[in-house]
Amino acid sequence: MDLASVQSDIEKVIVSEEQLQTRLKEIARKIENDYKDQDLLLIGVLKGAVMVMADLTRHINRHVEIDWMAVSSYGSGTKSSGVVRILKDLDRDITGRNVLIIEDIVDTGLTLDWLTQNLKSRGAGSVEIMTVLRKPDAAIVKVDVRYVGFDIPKDFVIGYGLDFNEKYRNLPFIAVLAKHMYE
Ligand code: IMP
Repeated sequence: MDLASVQSDIEKVIVSEEQLQTRLKEIARKIENDYKDQDLLLIGVLKGAVMVMADLTRHINRHVEIDWMAVSSYGSGTKSSGVVRILKDLDRDITGRNVLIIEDIVDTGLTLDWLTQNLKSRGAGSVEIMTVLRKPDAAIVKVDVRYVGFDIPKDFVIGYGLDFNEKYRNLPFIAVLAKHMYE
């Protein structure tokens, strides 16, 4: 979906399609380097990480495996609840595996803090995090994120997997949602 289709719903574009792809290529090079000759399992968090998983993995020039989890940390709306539920679990055992969690955004950090501990408790060999966006000013818990696409302000953003009431995920860029859409 293009900018013209959502122009009146957004305040501004904060990360363009080109900026996203350039940064993902840089991160792909780092991942290749950091996991050289090692096993690597990417775990995407549904549904937000679908876009980044599709693009990032195609930039990575080595074998990777992919699995998915779905967790809920938000109800509808724009505020984090802090309550995490597993809606869809992994298909395979991760004992001893090098896991890289692929996320759309770290907001309060509550979801990833919970997920990291959950995956470690299953006996993963290592658990690291890659996120497209991070809101440093919104952090409630500190999570160690190995690969960050962009640090952004606290505003509610949409696009590139991120939704508002399940819409806008199919924008190829990231934009701040206009306040009149939810206030
Ligand atoms: P956290 O637990 O507060 O870090 O939130 C993580 C989840 O909340 C993300 O995976 C998103 O699904 C959602 N979320 C947080 N901030 C935003 C936003 O600005 N736009 C859309 N979804 C968001």
